[in-house]
Amino acid sequence: MSNPLNTTLLIIGGGPGGYVAAIRAGQLGIPTVLVEGAALGGTCLNIGCIPSKALIHVAEQFHALQGYAGDSPLGIRAQAPELDLARSVAWKDGIVKKLTTGVGALLKKHKVTVVQGWARIVDGKTVDVDPVVKGKAGAPQRIRCEHLLLATGSEPAALPFMPFGGPVISSTEALSPKKLPKSLAIVGAGYIGLELGIVYRKLGVKVDVIEAQERILPVYDADLVKPVHAALKSLGVGLHLQTQVLGLTEDGKGLRVQSGKSESVLPAQQVLVAVGRKPRSRGFGLSSLMLDMDGLAVRVDDRCRTSMNGVWAIGDLTGEPMLAHRAMAQGECVAEQIAGHTRRFMPAAIPAVCFTDPEVVTAGMSPQQAAQAGIDAIDASFPLAANGRAMTLESTDGFVRVVARRDNHLILGWQAVGRGVSEFAAAFGQSIEMGARLEDVGHTIHAHPTQGEAIQEAALRALGQALHV
Ligand code: FAD
Ligand code: NAD
Repeated sequence: MSNPLNTTLLIIGGGPGGYVAAIRAGQLGIPTVLVEGAALGGTCLNIGCIPSKALIHVAEQFHALQGYAGDSPLGIRAQAPELDLARSVAWKDGIVKKLTTGVGALLKKHKVTVVQGWARIVDGKTVDVDPVVKGKAGAPQRIRCEHLLLATGSEPAALPFMPFGGPVISSTEALSPKKLPKSLAIVGAGYIGLELGIVYRKLGVKVDVIEAQERILPVYDADLVKPVHAALKSLGVGLHLQTQVLGLTEDGKGLRVQSGKSESVLPAQQVLVAVGRKPRSRGFGLSSLMLDMDGLAVRVDDRCRTSMNGVWAIGDLTGEPMLAHRAMAQGECVAEQIAGHTRRFMPAAIPAVCFTDPEVVTAGMSPQQAAQAGIDAIDASFPLAANGRAMTLESTDGFVRVVARRDNHLILGWQAVGRGVSEFAAAFGQSIEMGARLEDVGHTIHAHPTQGEAIQEAALRALGQALHV
């Protein structure tokens, strides 16, 4: 064992939670060590948010060109496109490399010491790292700290009767295909299942999605996901709702499923299992700290403190919602507290986006959630079919909905579905965080022609003053 390294803050995990905490700590002058066993940027940059959005873009472009090779109402005629998959994947990898290298540079700029290796917790103030140097294990490095920040993220949940391996893949393998399968069966119609299902379908693969619940994207309300359901149908994605997966067929080329009492086999050269992710809390000594847990997730309070003094936890390790921007915001919050600032992690809203086609975006409460909370609320929707910009973008399927208190018009939530509406997340989050009322948004001048006018119109409609519907 080499000489112990002493630091104020020791962060385990260099994903969006850990690296943002480290950068902020560096800005605040806190001596910080960050330990990462795989690659800086974590799930998000390497095998999650960024690579999936890159492949979504590839598939969108490919699909649009295919449309022009057919009967395009835009009057554009083109030859049928071809796909150089290796080049698409290399382009995606290039973006990942640029971003992860950038994270390394930012950490260096803020004087964070990065230790490459897998951390093992000894106690709440001591961690041993098995360094990985050019693929070989080196001598363990002991690190002592005043504050330990756990940011080890999450990993794909497996189906016990159909573990990962061979034709059964997780999102990680699906994001780096060497060859496209002829048929892909996807278990789970959640974020990953639908984002990647649409990618594969648009690239020409036969896709079937099997979902245990009665509708796709069950975390969202039924009206919001209807346009996505319709789009999946018109893309030719097979949707099998309220269906159970039984396992692979004996020849490994099909997936046995059960709906009600009837059993059938779906073609499946590969099976993507996307039934959720689980916090990464095992295998590195975390259980020896005997922290309060919620299942596999580390329980934290509204300051991201665990049940042990001086031990903090953020990001996917702390459970739902497992979103990169939540992890980043928690990381910043912890660094500032260690610097002596008074901070709480109590966001008024954490926006969520599903990058399907059309996209879904939410922030704050849906009408159902407001009712469940006993709030007397009003809600109003504005259809994108009545928005000029949406027409010029061929993206009229969808709507924007606002939810507000009836008494004082305080905005409680926003939901939207439509092409490109992910960018509404900023306006939605800001209006809720700043305590805006319907009048604030309704009387803000929104540039014309933009899809964002639908946000203003939804607020006006809730006030009974909609102009364009
Ligand atoms: P992670 O990003 O998982 O990082 C944890 C890091 O800790 C990893 O790098 C890991 O190697 C390291 N680590 C773990 N244990 C140890 C140890 N013992 N020693 C050293 N290092 C260790 N979220 C969004 O908000 N938007 C999206 O569009 C989006 N798309 C996604 C698409 C996919 C396919 C997937 C899988 C996820 C997606 N997510 C998305 C979720 C997002 O990636 C996570 O919420 C986010 O990465 C969580 O950040 P984190 O810092 O908590 O953990
Ligand atoms: P998910 O929770 O979004 O969806 C899992 C789906 O699988 C659910 O609809 C669930 O009902 C279904 N399911 C569970 N067990 C099943 C079974 N045995 N048979 C059939 N269906 C089953 O999980 P995910 O898609 O794996 O994504 C994991 C997490 O990663 C997400 O919850 C999210 O936090 C994050 N993520 C976010 C984004 C984004 O922000 N755009 C994108 C991808 C992933």
